[in-house]
Amino acid sequence: MDFHFTAGELALKKQYDDFFREEMKHAPPVVCKGGYEVPYSKEAYQFNRYIRKKLVEKGWYVQGWPKEYGGRDASLAEQMIFNESVAYFGIPIDSIAVKMFGPAVMLYGTDEQKKRLLLPIAKGEVQYCQGWTEPNAGSDLASLKTTAIKDGEYYVINGQKIWITAAHIADHMFLLARTNPAEKRSRGLSVFNVDLSLPGIEIRPIKYMNGSHVYNEVFFADCRIHESERIGQENYGWEQTRETMNFERSGSGIERFAGIRRYFEQILGYVKTTKRNGKYLWEDPLVRQKIGKIYAEMETGRALAYKNAWLQQVGNLRFSPAAASELKVYGTELIQRLSNFSLEIMGFQGNIEESQWSPLNGIMIDNYQSIIGSIICAGSNEIQRNIIAWVGCGLPRLKGQ
Ligand SMILES: Cc1cc2nc3c(=O)[nH]c(=O)nc-3n(C[C@H](O)[C@H](O)[C@H](O)COP(=O)(O)OP(=O)(O)OC[C@H]3O[C@@H](n4cnc5c(N)ncnc54)[C@H](O)[C@@H]3O)c2cc1C
Repeated sequence: MDFHFTAGELALKKQYDDFFREEMKHAPPVVCKGGYEVPYSKEAYQFNRYIRKKLVEKGWYVQGWPKEYGGRDASLAEQMIFNESVAYFGIPIDSIAVKMFGPAVMLYGTDEQKKRLLLPIAKGEVQYCQGWTEPNAGSDLASLKTTAIKDGEYYVINGQKIWITAAHIADHMFLLARTNPAEKRSRGLSVFNVDLSLPGIEIRPIKYMNGSHVYNEVFFADCRIHESERIGQENYGWEQTRETMNFERSGSGIERFAGIRRYFEQILGYVKTTKRNGKYLWEDPLVRQKIGKIYAEMETGRALAYKNAWLQQVGNLRFSPAAASELKVYGTELIQRLSNFSLEIMGFQGNIEESQWSPLNGIMIDNYQSIIGSIICAGSNEIQRNIIAWVGCGLPRLKGQ
């Protein structure tokens, strides 16, 4: 196995890095700071749309997609290099449509749906959100209660979704709903493309204490959608959803580790230039030990992400759920360890987020607080560990999981 990039790939990496470095000079402060909520906050969304347009013009936005759907069949290595650069520079790109809904339509949609739904995504014209979780169906998603009941050519949707990232700025939701209420679990579920401007949909914000707005509750009351919006077979949406979950969990694999590298370089700069009790932090043996440990873990994670990409390549979009779960657990918890260590060495000031005294512009306390969201979302890490034990290590499945 050769882990080096080819000369062509290195040239591509330079092209991406140069482009993003330049573009970030025009980014608003909230984007420059980085953090989980950035792509979906209102302040950053304008920049998100601007950069999306530029990427579409360059042919980079959906470059991994087949040519017939507006992509350029870029190899996985090329996509990884692109994603790594995007994440390293903190470019706020929406991945819900490009990496989750789009691939699901390619695998399960009809020809008519592929023509109608994929091109607007490829052109960066539409924003999607993911409508799965409900107040009593998160980890146990298969128990969800929102119904989509057939009425002639239409489905009538009733129910409530919660924690829906970006619903307030989205045009569409890919919804998981129960089409057969007689079935209580995974059988009887179907996937839909829902236009969020339809009557019968209400979106209510769930705001952070500081007022920023990323998540929402979405209520459906007799909302009618045409049957042509059902993606895949009726009542067989669960397999499709599980596959999309893997895109979600692993999709942010290399991005997560590239983001970690940016934060790591920031903290490295901090220990090189900051003094405590007359000595630089880098002179402290415990700080050096921790820096070395995190660096080793960061490199391990990056290798794991590339391995996962290879699994996707050989599996033609379908790959091991255990690999996706490993990436999710390792990446999110590494950010947690890195931000925890950063706050330890920063002392009291590290805990201040928005002040002239906040070290590194408060990004580490921001990471420390928001990473818990990433540890829970896309299936909590406890659930991921269960999947690794079951699918990855071959332990028998527990009843009810
Ligand atoms: C930042 C963020 C963004 C999100 N964005 C979206 C979105 O865009 N769309 C969407 O549909 N959903 C979204 N969610 C919801 C997310 O998918 C759920 O929060 C997640 O699946 C957990 O479900 P829950 O919150 O109901 O917790 P619960 O399922 O009630 O779990 C509570 C606790 O019990 C643990 N637990 C549960 N079952 C087991 C088990 N079998 N073994 C061990 N431990 C277990 C969990 O790990 C967790 O710690 C988001 C969540 C967050 C935090």
